[in-house]
Amino acid sequence: MIDTKIIRIPPDAELSLIDEALMPAAEIIRSGGLVAFPTETVYGLGADATSELASKKIYAAKGRPSDNPLIIHISTPEDAEGYTYTNGVYYKLARAFMPGPITVVLPSRETVPEATRGGLATVAVRCPSSRIANRLIKLSGVPIAAPSANLSGSPSPTTAEHVMDDMMGRIDCIVDGGASEVGLESTIVSVKSDDSVVLLRPGKITVEDIRALGIEVEIARAVTESLREGEIALSPGMKYRHYAPGAEVVLLDGSPDKAISYISARSYSNYAVICYSEDISQFESALGDATIIDFGNRDDMKSQARSLFDILRAADKQSYDIIFAPLPPTEDIGLALYNRMIRAAAHKIIRL
Ligand code: AMP
Ligand code: MG
Repeated sequence: MIDTKIIRIPPDAELSLIDEALMPAAEIIRSGGLVAFPTETVYGLGADATSELASKKIYAAKGRPSDNPLIIHISTPEDAEGYTYTNGVYYKLARAFMPGPITVVLPSRETVPEATRGGLATVAVRCPSSRIANRLIKLSGVPIAAPSANLSGSPSPTTAEHVMDDMMGRIDCIVDGGASEVGLESTIVSVKSDDSVVLLRPGKITVEDIRALGIEVEIARAVTESLREGEIALSPGMKYRHYAPGAEVVLLDGSPDKAISYISARSYSNYAVICYSEDISQFESALGDATIIDFGNRDDMKSQARSLFDILRAADKQSYDIIFAPLPPTEDIGLALYNRMIRAAAHKIIRL
């Protein structure tokens, strides 16, 4: 057991205060230790990306398969030059969205250890906009390799409490900077040519946002489908069951009326229904024995994104047998919700 140090930083703290509070965390990163820290997407579990040994510690703490590569976090977009071979598309994306919740996969330079990139010839880079994340990278003086700070297979953490639940005693330090603003992991694109990318993971920065820059976007099949037998994942993380709560999760594609008929035709006793705020009273009166969970307003997908992982983690603690949830639309940030929810549901979708 490691004695995990907790550093608390108020979300509205001044920069000088943030820097002072982060000093011990930066020192831990420099000396090869593990620090969990907030970013605008989810909490990351960071280590010196240039150290093979430090990167390996991340896989061990998370129980993460060693072929699932880490994202390298940098404090300014130009820092990618030290670790990757960039091109025009990278700088187009950087000018529009960095610092911010986008990750770009590029050919790797020799400077990135094999362990950090999971043995691939490419490496993923991201420049976070969260002030705490950005200052931690700067103060550490090294790029920070960081996957989400959860145990492998459980939902990504969006608060320091989530990280504590999974990582107390396993890592050196947790920086608590309040709840993550986006709540879902970054958009990942792989650079294909000088004017095209492949979307590997949808996030807050949408396909529509990227196309608006005149960049061609192909959506990898695994974003919306399950991998076929023997198919090779473009992004190794796609092949693992992700965001999986203990309960069976089933997505219902249809109106609240149809969802209620479907559920009441079966006799569940220990179950929950995630629904939009507008439909809560209808579900509550029709399904008296269910726990009804508020997913936010139907049209407020940003708020749904912020609360999804917290809802899944809270539901996990209740040990439901089954959880029903609505199937999100695939437009805009809906595609990111859809991608995470079909994984949590292991692709169980009922068309009503
Ligand atoms: P996480 O850091 O937990 O959000 O997971 C990082 C995601 O980035 C995983 O799904 C990886 O498969 C993906 N990733 C990281 N590096 C690469 C790369 N070089 N090529 C493709 N996908 C990558
Ligand atoms: Mg993850």
